[in-house]
Amino acid sequence: MAERLQKVMARAGVASRRKSETLISTGHVQVNGTVIRELGTKVTADDAIQVDGVAIQQEQFVYYLLYKPRSVVSTAHDDKGRRTVVDLLDDIDERIYPVGRLDYDTSGLLLMTNDGELANQLMHPKFKVDKTYVAKVKGVPTNDALEKLRHGLVVDGHKTSPAKSKLISVDHRKNTAIVQLTIHEGHNHQVKNMLTAVGFPVEKLRRDSYGPLTLDGLTSGDYRELKSVELEALR
Ligand code: URA
Repeated sequence: MAERLQKVMARAGVASRRKSETLISTGHVQVNGTVIRELGTKVTADDAIQVDGVAIQQEQFVYYLLYKPRSVVSTAHDDKGRRTVVDLLDDIDERIYPVGRLDYDTSGLLLMTNDGELANQLMHPKFKVDKTYVAKVKGVPTNDALEKLRHGLVVDGHKTSPAKSKLISVDHRKNTAIVQLTIHEGHNHQVKNMLTAVGFPVEKLRRDSYGPLTLDGLTSGDYRELKSVELEALR
């Protein structure tokens, strides 16, 4: 994927973006042996970049989509010695970490990367990445409960943004139901707390999508690299 030269230089630790721009415009930077002064120049991981004749090491970013199983922690390390999502991707050389968290007992889509800038961007509230969850709840949610979720309600002292909510199916015999909820916020246990707040505690939770990414074609524990179109769609 092509990125601006000054951005790549800054990430490689050459200088800040602003200083990298100065280095470029004053003729200190070569790409594939040619001096580049144009600030709009884009480069890829295959381009050889030199600053005053010294090659810079471009960091290779990797992006994986994991179908996290239940009973796995979504931190890189766990004090209690439980299995982590990083343990699941053990054949990957890069030091990757999850973008955001899923609870220990929640399954579903987790993006894993070593691209801290993209991770921070995606987790910033202003970015409003839609995440769709499917919950098995105790009881059968009423229209009134679903409406409350759609309007937003106070949970843990803050008002939630309007959520898309839909009743998918009902098991009257077991008195449970499947509900789909789409939110863009990411407070701790948010979906569980929202559903509990309207009277329907969560028995099981899975995240089915994260922005444009879905679990299609994966089963629990599977992972795969993101396609470049998916990465573009995320940015
Ligand atoms: N909301 C929750 O309650 N738990 C999760 O793991 C993710 C969202």
